[in-house]
Amino acid sequence: MERVLLIKYGEMTTKKGNRNFFVNTLYNNIKEKLKNFDVKIIKEISRMYIEFHDEDLERIKEQINHIFGIHTYHIAYIINSNMEEIISKSIEIMHKYEGKTFKVETKRSDKKFLIESMQVSRQVGGAILKNCIDMKVDVKHPEVLLNIEIRPYKSFIYTKTYYGLGGYPVGTQAKGMLMLSGGIDSPVAGFLTLKRGVRLDAVYFEAIPHTSLEARNKVIELTRILARYTDKINLHIVPFTEVQEEIYKTIDPAYCITIMRRMMYRITQLLAKKHNALILVNGESIGQVASQTLTSMSVINQVTNMPVIRPVACLDKLEIISIAQKIGSYETSILPYEDCCTLFVPKHPVINPTLEKCLKYEKNFDYKPMLEKAVEKTFTIKVEEQKEEKFKEFL
Ligand code: ATP
Ligand code: MG
Repeated sequence: MERVLLIKYGEMTTKKGNRNFFVNTLYNNIKEKLKNFDVKIIKEISRMYIEFHDEDLERIKEQINHIFGIHTYHIAYIINSNMEEIISKSIEIMHKYEGKTFKVETKRSDKKFLIESMQVSRQVGGAILKNCIDMKVDVKHPEVLLNIEIRPYKSFIYTKTYYGLGGYPVGTQAKGMLMLSGGIDSPVAGFLTLKRGVRLDAVYFEAIPHTSLEARNKVIELTRILARYTDKINLHIVPFTEVQEEIYKTIDPAYCITIMRRMMYRITQLLAKKHNALILVNGESIGQVASQTLTSMSVINQVTNMPVIRPVACLDKLEIISIAQKIGSYETSILPYEDCCTLFVPKHPVINPTLEKCLKYEKNFDYKPMLEKAVEKTFTIKVEEQKEEKFKEFL
């Protein structure tokens, strides 16, 4: 193997005490993502590198671009740590860039290598000027930056830096329960939560026959898109029809959405406890709709004492859309199937609900057994990132 994919961790290297745990989690996540490739992953405390077959590179990069905890990566030549090899490989690489300005930067973490970094850069730079046509050194704004990293027994040489997703490796935090509707906001909320290393289960409330199987499939597809950024996500599908119909039968239309959301939170909390999730996560954004004013959020939130994380709370819709487009969920989110929320929206939902009224209305019906029944009838689908047929080509 002449080239390797060299991975730098970034943010998590600041977590001193936990470093091994973070690195091991990242290692396992990369191993899982690349399980269909013939690769060797070598783990060091400050970096990792992957030996691969050239023909797999583009598909491996595609996988790497979906793994949290990777700050940057490079496609690097790996050679022995001696000046002769370093110089000849550098010249070979820089032939590709003839006519451009360049700079050589050397990092030497092997202090047994006796030539200092500056000296290495200078010698390599001199050799490039002598052997490559029409090249000039520019230390301030070079068109090509040649990086040399000298480590015990081996060195890495590369020119390009690719940016990974950053964040923390998924699995370095406990689990969260994501409320996943078919909309634009909640998949983005899920993505941003995974980015902090949180594992996720998802919960979807459906109201068949008022909502369709297409709407359910859309949520499964969104879960699959999210699962690309972790390994698999358990999607809990809650039959919500009975609860919802009861709400609309017994409660003042202005309060229907508020009460419905209080019921959703209650069920999500029950499911979170059942599946060992420590937080609830949703796509609420301050002020977006009547049920997301601070007054509404506060009244709705009172049904749970678990932390509710709202990653997109302070983002504009356009900012959320831009993330949705980047992560690949937008096109699916805008498919036109009705969600159980949009279906029953009253003409004038209350903007500033009060807790007293909620409690009064909730006395109108015996909701507790209904919620328990909904949890009991919830069924779970294990959603994996790739449909099987996509992998067939290299099985
Ligand atoms: P999204 O917020 O995902 O774009 P939306 O704006 O239609 O969809 P809202 O009605 O604003 O959703 O609901 C706010 C949040 O409540 C959603 O982001 C989601 O986390 C949760 N939620 C709403 N409906 C459902 C549902 N049917 N199943 C699970 N969670 C839901
Ligand atoms: Mg929304």
